[in-house]
Amino acid sequence: MRIELENLERSKGDFAHVYQPEDLNPVDERVSLIAPAAVNGKVRLSDNQVFVNGNVETRAQVECDRCLKPVEIPVNADFTLEYIGGSEYESREAAELTEEELSVSVFDGEAIDVDEIVKEQILLAVPTRMLCREDCKGICPECGADKNTGECNCVTNEIDPRWAALKDLT
Ligand SMILES: [Zn+2]
Ligand SMILES: [Zn+2]
Repeated sequence: MRIELENLERSKGDFAHVYQPEDLNPVDERVSLIAPAAVNGKVRLSDNQVFVNGNVETRAQVECDRCLKPVEIPVNADFTLEYIGGSEYESREAAELTEEELSVSVFDGEAIDVDEIVKEQILLAVPTRMLCREDCKGICPECGADKNTGECNCVTNEIDPRWAALKDLT
């Protein structure tokens, strides 16, 4: 969904939409949606700037970093975004942006892409390190068996570095 700024003056700037998971999947190579994503918010125009604030609510799924089992993540994110046109961005850049100002997004001056906002908010809600549980044992590098459901018969001489550290203490 795109919000054309041309039409904005006639409406009040409120928007709401429900995306089906297939509308946005895959969100990226590790994240996908498993429930509809409801977004609502408000767009406000002021000179060369556009302010968008709102909320995204959905459920996403990410693979565990160790065992690749899917883990469900509830997403309920409030956002406040600022957009400036390309020419405005260039003049600000010339005037040396502060770090805070750098967080604004540049847009084409015509429309705000709500799909991109929703995807971005989902990705921000997903931790960079994802484990199905703190002590996930992962999968066997030899046979691919899930070690959480039982040990396989592979012989590995590798000692988990955490246990190795404990051994040194005794
Ligand atoms: Zn896991
Ligand atoms: Zn194995």
